[in-house]
Order: sequence, then C-alpha cells, then structure tokens
Amino acid sequence: MYIIIMILDKNIVNLSNFRGRGVQTLINNGLSKHHLEHFWDGSYFDEEFFMADEKTKYIPTHPKTILNRINNPDMGPEWSMNPYQGCEHGCVYCYARITHEYWGYNAGLDFEKNILYKYNAAELLEHKLKSKSWKGEKITISGNTDCYQPAEQKLKITRQLLEICLKYNQSVVIITKNALVCRDIDILEKMAAKGLVEVCMSITTLNEDLRKVLEPRTSSSKNKLKVIRTLSEHSIPVGVLLAPIIPGLNSDEIFKICEAASNAGASFLNHTLLHLNGTTALLFENWIHKTFPLKASRVLHQIAEAQGGSLNKDDASNRRKKSSAIGQAIHQQVRLAKSKYQLNKARQKIAPLKLGIKQTPQLNLF
Ligand code: SF4
Repeated sequence: MYIIIMILDKNIVNLSNFRGRGVQTLINNGLSKHHLEHFWDGSYFDEEFFMADEKTKYIPTHPKTILNRINNPDMGPEWSMNPYQGCEHGCVYCYARITHEYWGYNAGLDFEKNILYKYNAAELLEHKLKSKSWKGEKITISGNTDCYQPAEQKLKITRQLLEICLKYNQSVVIITKNALVCRDIDILEKMAAKGLVEVCMSITTLNEDLRKVLEPRTSSSKNKLKVIRTLSEHSIPVGVLLAPIIPGLNSDEIFKICEAASNAGASFLNHTLLHLNGTTALLFENWIHKTFPLKASRVLHQIAEAQGGSLNKDDASNRRKKSSAIGQAIHQQVRLAKSKYQLNKARQKIAPLKLGIKQTPQLNLF
C-alpha cells in the first residue's frame, strides 16, 4: 500500500513506501510535452497509473555504437562505455538522471525502475576495436551509469565487454559503487598483469544510515572497503572515488573515508564536488527537505555557493577553480587527507599506444 505524501507543485509528485528507491518521486520529463499536470487536476489522483508496477523493468535496446566521446567537466575528454541506461542503485544526486529524459522517461523513479540495456554491446565493441580508425585510447566504463548495477548480475554485459578488452589489449578504467565487480576478478587479474585496468571504488559515506537514504541500492560501505582490499590483494590497481562530496552532508567524512580506503589497500584518490544539473536539482531539493528538514536549507545554500551561486545552473569551472570559500575548504581537506593517507601514489600509465596497442587475435598466432 503506497501513500501519496506531498504534491509540491505540478512538476513533482512525492510517493512513499517504494522500498529501497532513492528519490521516491515522479517528476516531469523536461523534454516531454506530456507533463504530470495532464494527469492531475487537483482533485483526482490516478493511483493505479503511478503505482502499477514497483518492480524494475529491464528493456533491451539496439544501439549502433557503444563508445561515446564525452567532455567530462571534472575529468576532461574521454571515451565512455555504458552498457546500461538508468541505474537501479538510485543515488539521489546522480547526474545521469537527466539522460533518461532522452528516452522518454522521467529522471525520478523511472530512472531507477526502467533500465535499458545494450544487448549487443560486446559485438559493437569488438567491431570498434578491430576498426582501423580506433587508436586504442583508454575507455572509462561507467562514465555515465554504473556498469555493475544489479542488472549486471544476470545480464553479464560488462563481463562480456571486459573479455573483449582483454582479447584486444584495450585499457579501461572501471568506476562502480557495487561489490559485484569482484565477480570478474579472473578477467581483471589478467588485464592487470598487462597494465590494462584500474578500478575506482566510489565511496560517498561510511555512515550506513546516510548511505541507505542517499544511494539505497549501492553496496554497503563495509562491502565497498572489502572490494578495495580484495582487488588490492589480487594486484589489481584500485583507488577510491570520493564522490560526490556534498557540503554539509558528507563533507565531514573526507579524512575518515581516506583513512579507511588507504587501510584497505587503495593507492589513489579522486574526488568530485556535487554538481546538480537540470531536473536533478529539483529532485535533490525535494528529497533533502523530506529527509533532513532541519539541515536542508543550509546544505542547499552551500551547494549553490560551491556551484557559483545557483542550485541548478552548475558551472563546472567554479567547482574546479575552487572559487567559493566552501569549495576551497573542501579541496584543501582532500589534498591534506590524500597526503596523510598516501593516496597520491602515481597511477600506473595505462595510456593508449603503450599498453592499449591494438592486437588482433590473428597476430597472436605469430
Ligand atoms: S551508482 Fe552511479 S550511475 Fe548509479 S545511480 Fe548512483 S551515481 Fe548514478
């Protein structure tokens, strides 16, 4: 039995009792002409329409390409490969939420419940790696959505992609919040022996109460640390991605996370400050008012300050230039923590042309 607890405006409908979901919210698709207000006349709520199916749906898609060239505002230009669209992990702050709008879904519950998967991803990747135009540049798996989200348990698309990468000596960086990555240790070990892989375990908080509301279907922080330990023991380069740092929410955990990750065997640390974009800003604002009413205004104010004064008009350069006092303080803490816990070890070079040398299966014969 679900209860509608709040209608903030015609753009957002809040629901409760969606177990294990992040935002608990339906929101207008900013790109669609069909808005929630078309179903809502202020007196009648079509509960059946909204609640029909609380289970996650997995929907196959037929893409023509698997690699995307993206300009990541925090990391620079890179090749990204995402076997899934949408993510069942349901992190409230997720910047990939708005990409679901391109597929006709909303960035709220739809993003967590309607998972599109690229069933032919491995075939497309092999085709690309064999092509003359491919220069062997490093690929980030999970540049947008998590490649080890729950769907991967059954579908094994990420595993197939890694098999292809190993076959062609293609270097990859894997970013994930799920311990499922350890399932593929057999492949990762072989890739690591050739210097082809690096894993970033993304840890946002060590506070389980916070994790359960902020990113409900990710692995527990204890399991994430266990992953770091296990990969490190298997000589697979592993670091921690402290992301996102949310001023006033997890920003007091920087030293604790660095210490725990370093003790577990992480050799490097990356971090990003939260950036809210488009509809995600609305969702986050709505969520924090419901979840942490007493600190909501302060947190939102600090996020806006770090983003250059606005909550939903993020300017990545502001975060990078550390122009705000709050941004400067956070970046300084990260620098100190990295140094204190030796998380600034040189990352292995998995640059193209050295280790990503194209190698066709035929050449292996000679
Ligand atoms: S795990 Fe990553 S992709 Fe998935 S919801 Fe969380 S932030 Fe988004």
